[in-house]
Amino acid sequence: MTNEILDKDQQYIWHPFTQMKTAGLPKLIERGEGALLFDGDGNTYIDAVSSWWVNVHGHAHPHIANRIYEQLTTLEHVIFAGFTHRPAVTLCDRLLRYLPHQHKVFFSDNGSTAIEVALKMCIQYFYNKGINKDTIVALDNAYHGDTFGAMSAGADHNFNNPFKQWMFDVERIPTPTKDNLALAKEQLVRILKEKDVCCFIFEPLVQGSGGMIMYEPEALDELIAICREHGVLCIADEVMTGFYRTGKMFASDYLVNKPDLTALSKGLTGGTLPLSLTLCTDEIYDAFLSNDKMKTFFHGHSFTGNPIGCTAALASLDIFEMEETQENIKNLIASHQAFHTRIKDHPSIRDIRQRGTILAIEFETDSQTSYFSNIRDQLYDYFMERGVLLRPLGNVIYILPPYCISKEQLEKVYDVITKALNQFGAKAVQS
Ligand SMILES: *Cc1c(COP(=O)(O)O)cnc(C)c1O
Repeated sequence: MTNEILDKDQQYIWHPFTQMKTAGLPKLIERGEGALLFDGDGNTYIDAVSSWWVNVHGHAHPHIANRIYEQLTTLEHVIFAGFTHRPAVTLCDRLLRYLPHQHKVFFSDNGSTAIEVALKMCIQYFYNKGINKDTIVALDNAYHGDTFGAMSAGADHNFNNPFKQWMFDVERIPTPTKDNLALAKEQLVRILKEKDVCCFIFEPLVQGSGGMIMYEPEALDELIAICREHGVLCIADEVMTGFYRTGKMFASDYLVNKPDLTALSKGLTGGTLPLSLTLCTDEIYDAFLSNDKMKTFFHGHSFTGNPIGCTAALASLDIFEMEETQENIKNLIASHQAFHTRIKDHPSIRDIRQRGTILAIEFETDSQTSYFSNIRDQLYDYFMERGVLLRPLGNVIYILPPYCISKEQLEKVYDVITKALNQFGAKAVQS
């Protein structure tokens, strides 16, 4: 049975981020429960990457499932221009309590699009005011998604080679570390002097796809302060960092200087349905109010504000607001800290870093440290064979699990990583 399905998969399906010629057969997953995925051959896998960072409460969560079912049989979708519905309004009402510096909510259905919306809002904000500002500033190593605007704002990557002539120019500054904060500030100030900058976009505190690169809120606060002084809008891409990944509900909670716009997706619906939000301040929203129709924000998608997605997001908030979930998050952070302390002197570790529930370990290897590096594929297979789903970014292994992961499951993840360090690390292999 499994083989038949896989044959048909190969016949029909073009998988994402996959070289279809050389990729092995995909795993057929029949079922999920909590942090576990069950394949067609009786194997289980611990989903230690939350299925591309979306799953926060575990798979097939009954509370979210029930709420979705009720909503499906009440109102599955309605056009969102000229109409509204309770799930969308209630979601804004509840979510904005966590983000009091944001006042208005625009709906779309994936992280990349939430970023496109944010960029378009910033550009049109100045256009509507008759101010000539259109340059975008972004960080090195950034990832903001796969649509053209998001690709342009993201760091230069050879994935984008075929499209480069169609992407727009973005001014880039270094991700601010302890060593280069002064340089980053200097470059930012220079760009602000030389160009007409409309916005600064960043992944706050953790740059995910760039390799789980982490930096300090104080540094980001300084960059935002400089932007503020120059009337530049700040976009926090919290698509990955949102919903307690960094230990707090949002990475922006660590900041004194709050962003003008926030993009949310991934964890928003608890990992069940595609939904995203772009939040902004009244100040931005007001620049679109006019008797002149041309100042309208002409953007929207067929499934904008989908009620089932909104209901899933509300159900996910219910779970976040349970004491048990908050305990799980605390325990996960503490477990990571304990493992961090235990393993940090391992000779195969070049760097180990943690922010909240995310733990990243950079392997000391001989091979090139790129996404394409061979070590990445070896590690992926090694973990899968041992029942753990981890998708290293080049030589960076990271753990970003659903918060319901059990202590035993987490120990198993730590254990396979330790064994991999012993087996694959350059120094370990030499000795
Ligand atoms: C995943 C991601 C995106 C893109 O979201 P999609 O839903 O995959 O389009 C944007 N920004 C960040 C920080 C992300 O991690």
